[in-house]
Amino acid sequence: MSAPQPISPDEAETALRDLNQELNRLQRTIRLAIQEQLSKMVGRSFDDLQKNRELADSIHQLLDSHGLRVCCLECGHPAILRVSPRGDSSGVFVFDHTIEGKRTFHGGRKTVPIIRLVAKPPRKSPRKSNQIQAKQTTA
Ligand SMILES: [Zn+2]
Repeated sequence: MSAPQPISPDEAETALRDLNQELNRLQRTIRLAIQEQLSKMVGRSFDDLQKNRELADSIHQLLDSHGLRVCCLECGHPAILRVSPRGDSSGVFVFDHTIEGKRTFHGGRKTVPIIRLVAKPPRKSPRKSNQIQAKQTTA
């Protein structure tokens, strides 16, 4: 038996490029499928704070597992959909995101807002986020 042929840089590049294209196509299909299903909930909500919180949390878990975030309708930043108890007893849907290093909430409707999906931004290096945390605690 002869030793396996070493892979050529060209072969590796082509294989990885093809894979990348295929994954992008699949990602897009997944994103559209998620968006279509979630759009059925837009403008609606539960009449109960805890249920709304669980709904927002389930949506976030699902999106996170596919490397997605919702797009904030006010500023366009990638955000996490949450339910805040402010407002009436069933809570309001807010976009939770960090803008210029500060945790910021936008939105505040009583029902599920229009969901536009965006890719999750790359994670900051641990060192950098530690620095930000240290800065926040001393401020
Ligand atoms: Zn925003």
